[in-house]
Amino acid sequence: MLFRDVAGCYEKLEGISSRLEMMGLLSQLFKGAGKGEIRALVYMTQGILAPNFEGVEFGVAEKMLEEAIAIATGHTKDEVKSLYEKRGDMGAAAFELRKGSKLRCMSEDELSIGDVYGRMLKVARTSGQGSKDAKIKMLAAVLASASPPEAKYLARYPIGQLRLGVGDSTILEALSISMTGGREAKKELENAYNLCSDLGEVGEVLAKSGISSIKSFSIALFKPIRPALAERLPTAEEILEKMGGRCAVEQKYDGFRCQVHKDGKKVRIYSRNLEETTGMYPDIVGYVHSGIKAEGIIFEGEALAFNESTGEFLPFQETIQRKRKHGIEEKAAELPLHLFAFDLMYLNGKDYMMEPYEKRRSALEAAVKGAKGISPTARIIADAPRELEGFFEESIENGLEGVVAKDLSAPYIAGAREFSWIKMKRSYKGQLSDTVDLVIVGYFLGRGSRAAFRFGGLLCAVYDRVKDRFETISKIGTGFTEANMEAFRQLLDKSVVRAKPARLESEITPDFWVEPRYVVTVRADEITKSPMHTCGRQRDEEGNETGYALRFPRIVGDGFVRKDKGAADATTTKEIIEMYRQQKRIGLR
Ligand code: AMP
Repeated sequence: MLFRDVAGCYEKLEGISSRLEMMGLLSQLFKGAGKGEIRALVYMTQGILAPNFEGVEFGVAEKMLEEAIAIATGHTKDEVKSLYEKRGDMGAAAFELRKGSKLRCMSEDELSIGDVYGRMLKVARTSGQGSKDAKIKMLAAVLASASPPEAKYLARYPIGQLRLGVGDSTILEALSISMTGGREAKKELENAYNLCSDLGEVGEVLAKSGISSIKSFSIALFKPIRPALAERLPTAEEILEKMGGRCAVEQKYDGFRCQVHKDGKKVRIYSRNLEETTGMYPDIVGYVHSGIKAEGIIFEGEALAFNESTGEFLPFQETIQRKRKHGIEEKAAELPLHLFAFDLMYLNGKDYMMEPYEKRRSALEAAVKGAKGISPTARIIADAPRELEGFFEESIENGLEGVVAKDLSAPYIAGAREFSWIKMKRSYKGQLSDTVDLVIVGYFLGRGSRAAFRFGGLLCAVYDRVKDRFETISKIGTGFTEANMEAFRQLLDKSVVRAKPARLESEITPDFWVEPRYVVTVRADEITKSPMHTCGRQRDEEGNETGYALRFPRIVGDGFVRKDKGAADATTTKEIIEMYRQQKRIGLR
């Protein structure tokens, strides 16, 4: 497949907002790709080179790209920089300069998708001394072989600004249409994606071996499974009713979610966000090596700072100090973590995903038995609200967040928020019992006393999974310290885009739009109806359009962006509507 066709499709995608049309275009593109090309094409459309957990990064800064464009088009670095600043888009700058360039296209042959992907991968893999210049040269060479529309996407790809407005869910649907003619296969494709967290792999298996292989897709060691998520319910009665009168209730620990994979001597740990984080946890890796006898295992747990001698759980503010790039060993010695294991997916050649919770749990208990630094989560089996409440109160007294109730007969449901796990967290009267995770889509300049920081607050959105769109729910102006206002501005400045991001629905225009990428945790007093926001927007009986908003929102946690969550992990519109209903039921409104 020629890269010209890919760039042509991307250009059309940018110009449309109808999801149906987008899927049509994308599915045509996928259809045209060879079986050996689909993996690269999927990654490219996602704007990445490899799935998150492989940790392949371009390592290309904007300045390097400016230099590469300068070399490829015969302009000076300053000319590139000033055009980039004027357009606010590296792609537009590359397009225009390539178009006006007196330098001919360097190559006789047209670029193929395989060429482009292979060369970009080489750029990413070049590291060490002198790598900066080598990367610039490689980028310049590929840009010099490109036509202007190709140059546009070649320039955007390495700096993570493809701006196609396409999310994973649209790609899954387009794959389904391209290979089966309809959208019906999406569910199976999504399931395969949940099991391997690698959309390129799913596309390739589908293209090479057909839908039957997708249906029989299974988990594999060192491919992280997309985590199961918990629903919420406010009372013990409702939880037990939903669970059929009897369920397990586990303590809910507030730390880092760890998915541990072990095969013989090889151990890897993946975060909730499916990044490989093995290096962060030398202590846990040690506990797995020394204490887990199984040859092969995949299990999950929550790691938190814990005083083994007093049995005291340390607050998240302590645990979070373990998130670092330097001085890891020293900090691990000062603040060791304990891993509370809560689920098992694989053990010694056997896939446990479809086994009921009780069976997974007993195999898990046996597998971690006696391991130093690892123990199963504390739990009870409850069949009366009183028991569940008692255990909840006890957990809170122990300094924990609450409990997670689990359906005794449910399988492990990867990548989905289902009622097989229901969380119940500490709730303050008059406040929403749970925080929400919102994605930043814009920011406001500071006024009055904040003018000096050039930062006044954030415009935030939730994610509508069905529409694969972001919808605004709140402006957030409180909870920031002076230091993190500065940090927010510096971070967001790098993701500023000129126009409203493609997948965002918003009636509010902030001072700067930001590419939806960063997630913050927010607490609010309640969810209200609002004509300003697009979250869950519907026409009411009087014909007014209203959506949902947050009352008194404020940033919580460590007050900065969540490193373990991406835009598609933000709280969904459906959850907000459900939380609004629950809030009404318990009389807060
Ligand atoms: P939340 O992040 O509030 O949606 O709560 C779900 C998170 O709680 C999971 O992603 C885990 O990281 C964490 N967690 C802590 N204890 C447990 C447990 N016993 N079972 C499942 N998840 C737990």
